Amino acid sequence: MGIEGWNKSGNEAGRGGFSACCLAFAIDRIDLIEAACGDEAGRDVRGEVALRILRGLSDCGVALNSVCRDGGRLVVHFAGVPHHDVERCASRVIDGVSEYAIVRDWGTVFVTVSAGGVVSSVADLGRRRMEAWALSALSEASRLGSGRVHVIAAPDGLSSWYGRALEVLGGVRRALDAGRLSLAYQPVVGVDGEVFYHECLLRAVDENGAAMGPAEFVPVLEQLGMIGWLDHYVFGKVVEELLADERAVLGCNLSGQSVSDSGWMERVFDLLSARPGVARRLVVEITETSAIFDLMKAAGHVAQLRGLGVRVALDDFGAGFASFAHLRALGVDIVKLDQSFLASAGDAAWFDRVAHLAGLVRGIGCDVVVEGVEREEQLAVLDLADVTHVQGYCFGRPSAYRRWRYEESGGQNEAAGVR
Ligand code: C2E
Ligand code: CA
Ligand code: CA
Repeated sequence: MGIEGWNKSGNEAGRGGFSACCLAFAIDRIDLIEAACGDEAGRDVRGEVALRILRGLSDCGVALNSVCRDGGRLVVHFAGVPHHDVERCASRVIDGVSEYAIVRDWGTVFVTVSAGGVVSSVADLGRRRMEAWALSALSEASRLGSGRVHVIAAPDGLSSWYGRALEVLGGVRRALDAGRLSLAYQPVVGVDGEVFYHECLLRAVDENGAAMGPAEFVPVLEQLGMIGWLDHYVFGKVVEELLADERAVLGCNLSGQSVSDSGWMERVFDLLSARPGVARRLVVEITETSAIFDLMKAAGHVAQLRGLGVRVALDDFGAGFASFAHLRALGVDIVKLDQSFLASAGDAAWFDRVAHLAGLVRGIGCDVVVEGVEREEQLAVLDLADVTHVQGYCFGRPSAYRRWRYEESGGQNEAAGVR
């Protein structure tokens, strides 16, 4: 049975405005099935679900141009289908998948599937770009709950957005190849004035010697779904620094995208397991939690990291997507309160909010870092009762200087006491 108006040629339907479509499907909470029934059962379920999805698409009359697996996700490309029909089709397919239980020797399970997609009137957007958008729509669908569909229309300006994004990506890649990427280190200081660790912040310089801030390119790479290789580069550099001097205690920013990717994290675990003594001097800061596409999987990885002795921080808490749901699920050691709290702290009420939030976080046993402390006056006003650490220009700007290497105390006790 086909959806009305679908069995048209690509060109014909293309007159309706859309000529290319990419849908990505993922099984909701497959990690729970794997945990309960084993990896073999997980593979079995993935295979069965893939068959049901393809059968469902065919029942809708969709002629697929290509099908591929991306990790645990199934990604399909087709053409000539208008936006609202893509949504209807995806809903019908995912309803079909969960209609019947999967009955096997190892047990019986019901699964739900979420789908994300992109439809575009621009035929030459390219497969990788379409996939990146479909996957980002899929993370949005998964964020909303189970069995959800989220389809976006590629705006007319998308190709120019991609053009610019690819330029940014190219710039970072060239900087990497030419050795123009480096790290800056900024201390995170205890309220007693002792340096806890130095956060490593990426620095890049373009062909003309101009600085490119991570705020310019990290979000772009995240949107392209390509932050993984950059995080991998930085992680490698941070581990090198830790190996070079055993007095170093360093923080490394990892995007939520990387932290919820099992293949990516496997390399991290291998790297740390082969280098004893590094993990306990490493703090992983999870940034951009909106990019976590599987919270339970990310929580499993956090537990594994902590098992190795790594301390894990939830970054930018209280801003954007870093929420109490993340805090509860991820089980981190440290919470960093977003610096926007202090930036907007023109009035005393904001300082009260910081203190209140710090109390809540401290109440569940995490260390609390207040970020973005620029001036001593801010500390005078802030109630530090539940704050364990502070960070900001007031205690040291990010710089290439490796103070742990050159100072007797390994960089400890360098900052002025806070209390
Ligand atoms: P973040 O992790 O929250 O890092 C803190 C940012 O605040 C840094 O900006 C730092 O330079 C800045 N900062 C520190 N103290 C103060 C202060 O007192 N006042 C103000 N106004 N700013 C302060 P930066 O280096 O531009 O980094 C921006 C963001 O880019 C970072 O925010 C982080 O999310 C991301 N980032 C940086 N390096 C990496 C990296 O290696 N990997 C990943 N995935 N993301 C990175
Ligand atoms: Ca950070
Ligand atoms: Ca932060």
